[in-house]
Amino acid sequence: MFHDNDGSRRVLFSVLCIILLSLTSLALGRAGGGGSYGGSGGGNGGSGGNGSGYIFYLLIRLAMEKPVIGIPLLVVVIILLIKFGRKAKGGYETHTITRAGKLRKEQEHQEMQAALETIRQRDTGFTTGKFVQKVNRAFIAVQESWSNQDLSPVRQFISDGISERFNLQIEMQRAEGYRNSMENITVRSTRIVGVYTDRHFDSIHVEITAQAEDTDVDLKTGRKLRKNSSAPFTEYWSFLRKPGAQTLEGRSLIEGFCPNCGAHLEITDTGRCENCDSVLTSGEYDWVLAEITQSIEWNVVTDKSLIPGFDAMLSVDPGFNLQHIEDRTSVIFWRLMKSWFNGDVSEAGKVALPSHLEEFRIQISNTASGDEWMFFKDAAVGAVEVQEITLGATNRMDRIDVLVKWSGINAMRNRNGGVRVTGRKMIRPQVYTLVRKHGVKTGVDQSFRSSHCPGCGAPYAGGGSGTCEYCGRPLNDGSQDWVLECVQRFTASRITAGAVDGIERAALVPPELILSSMVKAMYADGEVDGKEMSTLSSFAARRHITDEQLGEIIETVKSGQDTLPAPGNQNEAREILAAMSRIVLADGRLSGDEKNLLQAFGESQGLVWADVKLIIAQQKALLYREAKTSIKEMG
Ligand SMILES: [Zn+2]
Ligand SMILES: [Zn+2]
Repeated sequence: MFHDNDGSRRVLFSVLCIILLSLTSLALGRAGGGGSYGGSGGGNGGSGGNGSGYIFYLLIRLAMEKPVIGIPLLVVVIILLIKFGRKAKGGYETHTITRAGKLRKEQEHQEMQAALETIRQRDTGFTTGKFVQKVNRAFIAVQESWSNQDLSPVRQFISDGISERFNLQIEMQRAEGYRNSMENITVRSTRIVGVYTDRHFDSIHVEITAQAEDTDVDLKTGRKLRKNSSAPFTEYWSFLRKPGAQTLEGRSLIEGFCPNCGAHLEITDTGRCENCDSVLTSGEYDWVLAEITQSIEWNVVTDKSLIPGFDAMLSVDPGFNLQHIEDRTSVIFWRLMKSWFNGDVSEAGKVALPSHLEEFRIQISNTASGDEWMFFKDAAVGAVEVQEITLGATNRMDRIDVLVKWSGINAMRNRNGGVRVTGRKMIRPQVYTLVRKHGVKTGVDQSFRSSHCPGCGAPYAGGGSGTCEYCGRPLNDGSQDWVLECVQRFTASRITAGAVDGIERAALVPPELILSSMVKAMYADGEVDGKEMSTLSSFAARRHITDEQLGEIIETVKSGQDTLPAPGNQNEAREILAAMSRIVLADGRLSGDEKNLLQAFGESQGLVWADVKLIIAQQKALLYREAKTSIKEMG
């Protein structure tokens, strides 16, 4: 008996030793052995390993001699070890992914310094201090022009895209008899957040946080009609110029002087200096305000390598740049909005193919009832991202698909100018397809002059004709610049894992649009309750999606209208899950709320938690591999 018992004890002892040894090597080997875990303290793991080895020996002895206490204790330790081992492995991968992202950001800081150095070498008068002063001055000047509904004092340094947007918004306010007044403007902080130089442009992105007394004022009586939010707001202003431009002390565009001849500027809508005829907003001589955006967390500069067809386009059109496409798309968008507002397509005559214009005419007339027609009140553009570039054959068209994520309120207008709101603010992601004849190249001065004739430089005059009023060139056939071929809904098939680069924090589809697609699918019945709202809200906050953006998503879902890209089948749902997993994992470990949201979305699409978990694990493994490669590349 005793002998037998002793033998089985010996077997038990050996088995326990083998299990424990393999477990310790799994758990502690990952945590300490890698040396990269924790970034620094590789030594801790080693000593911990030795210490715990002795403790295990004691534990096993205890299990042998006092099985009643020792065996349960051993079981607990084994369970803890298995859990810890898994966590350590998961933690190590998460750490590597976020570390690669951080390294990229640090690299970005170095890149920023290097880019600033490049600018200083070419332009000895440039200092960031003076640049920021100029930006503050430009910011105040733009707010004042906006309040006074007169853009002429700032026209010389803003792009056509911004100019058309402000002009239309001002015109809409005037039609409703008010102006938006921004009084006592104070700039709280101005911070340079991105500096880039390439062969086309120097570009500096500036984060501006400001505050103002924001009210709407009656144009006739001067009485205050409404008090708007006066909370601090943050915007990102992008200034661009050609790499050869030089800083001119006190004689810049923003200060109201021609940077070419030094003359005080008399403003004309041609965007040319009256004295020397140079094109002011080309960026050739000085900084031009090219874009104003609300958030740039994930897309400071679109990662061009993500865009299919970008390199091929560059090889046939060396002047091709995304800045022009964004400016051009902005001009096209605002001209469509103005057409809706007027109930007349002529504003779009120079920027759309005649075939699209005809379709557009029918669309507008289909919304008309009685003497009213539909338009979009308070339209705002949230994102413009190039999705895909396709080169056409000779004598055919080149094509660009551009995502335009915008929001607006459905409203009706009549011939007497009366306005009636009929809906709530909704998000409307669309794909604009732009075409240009194959072989046509981007002009040097063209980038921020998207509503000027590329042939003679004249501004687009009024009237619905598709040709330039000054030189007679056709502008609506893609022979001069990109024109609109069609507008389509943005469908879920465009949201794929491949559209998100987790390491570079870049995506062809903005995170809030992926979230809106998930929310649309989860609440197909339009009911979103309070508890779910708090999950969504904390999820959004971690993704730098603002409460306002989330509010718009919820409103859009509640409206029951189909403007959001809901998945059409399970494969699309899987891609959306994969894309969102990449974004979430790149920012760190999956939180409880994030897990719940991904799970709830999966369930709404007939995927069980095991399916969802597998998709997350796959993306994590992929990101981990990409992160390792990225860390290696950076040495
Ligand atoms: Zn001049
Ligand atoms: Zn012309």
